[in-house]
Amino acid sequence: MTQQVISRFAPSPTGFLHIGGARTGLFSWLYAKSFGGKCLLRLEDTDEKRSKQEFANSILKSFQWLEVVFDGEPFYQSKNKASHLEKVDFLLTSNRAYYCDCSSERLEHLRKEQQKLKLKPKYDGKCRELNLKSGGGSVIRFKNPESGSVIFEDIIRGKIEVANEELDDLILVRSDGSPTYNLSVVVDDMDMGITHVIRGDDHINNTPRQINIFEALKADVPNFGHLPMILGEDSKRMSKRQGAKSVLEYKDLGVLPEAFLNCLVRLGWSLGDQELFNLDELQEKFREGKMNTAPASFSMDKLLWFNKKYISSLDNRSLISKLSDYSNHFKEDPKSIVVINLIKDRCSLMSDFKKESAYFFEDLDKIDSKLSSKVFNKQALQILKRLMEELEKVNEWTTEKIHSSIENVMSINKVDMGSVGKPFRLSITGQMNSPSIDKTAVVLGKKKVIERMNQVIKEFS
Ligand code: GLU
Repeated sequence: MTQQVISRFAPSPTGFLHIGGARTGLFSWLYAKSFGGKCLLRLEDTDEKRSKQEFANSILKSFQWLEVVFDGEPFYQSKNKASHLEKVDFLLTSNRAYYCDCSSERLEHLRKEQQKLKLKPKYDGKCRELNLKSGGGSVIRFKNPESGSVIFEDIIRGKIEVANEELDDLILVRSDGSPTYNLSVVVDDMDMGITHVIRGDDHINNTPRQINIFEALKADVPNFGHLPMILGEDSKRMSKRQGAKSVLEYKDLGVLPEAFLNCLVRLGWSLGDQELFNLDELQEKFREGKMNTAPASFSMDKLLWFNKKYISSLDNRSLISKLSDYSNHFKEDPKSIVVINLIKDRCSLMSDFKKESAYFFEDLDKIDSKLSSKVFNKQALQILKRLMEELEKVNEWTTEKIHSSIENVMSINKVDMGSVGKPFRLSITGQMNSPSIDKTAVVLGKKKVIERMNQVIKEFS
């Protein structure tokens, strides 16, 4: 390829950025980067009612978090209106567009008639050759070719051919003078010098229409690639409306950007059997991989799997620095490091570290009454008391010594490990799950362990 690749990501800032949009943005960006090109960001903010700066900020912040940096400043579609209208003038003077004053009643009637005859609803071209002049209430329509077909080579799906007969004389400018989506997109892509359009397949029907407009404007037609849809856990198209999380909500939950990116890129792209990719590697190798045509399925479990992998690959120092966004427990001190080493395997999200480590750093909350009434029965409290006495005698506070105290109590009372371990764990951690109990007790320290056991014995006996 001799020409520089310039792609774009063109979201409408009418909602927070979700997985689908993030995947489109990432693929457009990676595609360009893997060819040494540029990817520009265009905010399609022409829907005045629904577009909000808050949503534009969410898009910008999400990609900042992912360290995906678009080239140049964001392009705001609403600021390019003059150019949209200028290009329409060109289409009018070159006889590729026309004024149409058909009333909405006529169009409605036409649609119903076509429906009755089982025809695809389409403007019938009444005003196409009337040479009408601009007048209050009229719209400007595109003169779509009447014969032949539009053929393009989709980067992902291969050859696509659509007969012109299937396409409408679509409206370019509404009666209030505002340019429509298909016009604005084509003009912006021209003005921004876009060579590659990578977008969701919900736009695939717009592409032949847009190609005809590019051609009528005597512009170079970009290459197109349409990404398959993403299915949610329920195997239905993932949509914002179904309560899917925004990208920044995943950040707040404790997903690492590296894991999120890795999960996104696997939604419709593969390179052999490799699962883990970092951003540098992706920029280099994206073009060697395969973009799939089949729908991709998002799974939270898979995202957590990636996240756990990335968490375990971090050294303690980087982990502690990243954890500062989620918890104030961890500092660069020996206790934090011991706790982290103990709980790291149990954490799939950065926010899990706070939950998993709370009993090491904070006083215990009141133990859940359902748990305490189940676990702290008479026999368990006797066992606990016995264990406490054993532990009080331990001088060298090590896992081995704690473990042998537990074993002593097991053999004296002729009970199994669970009968000692369960009340012990619940009394010193306030929960039923924790890392191995002897290691947990070592990190808590003798004083705290005895204090907490004592407290339980007093409270529940
Ligand atoms: N603004 C459109 C959207 O958010 C995308 C337009 C395009 O990529 O051509 O769906």
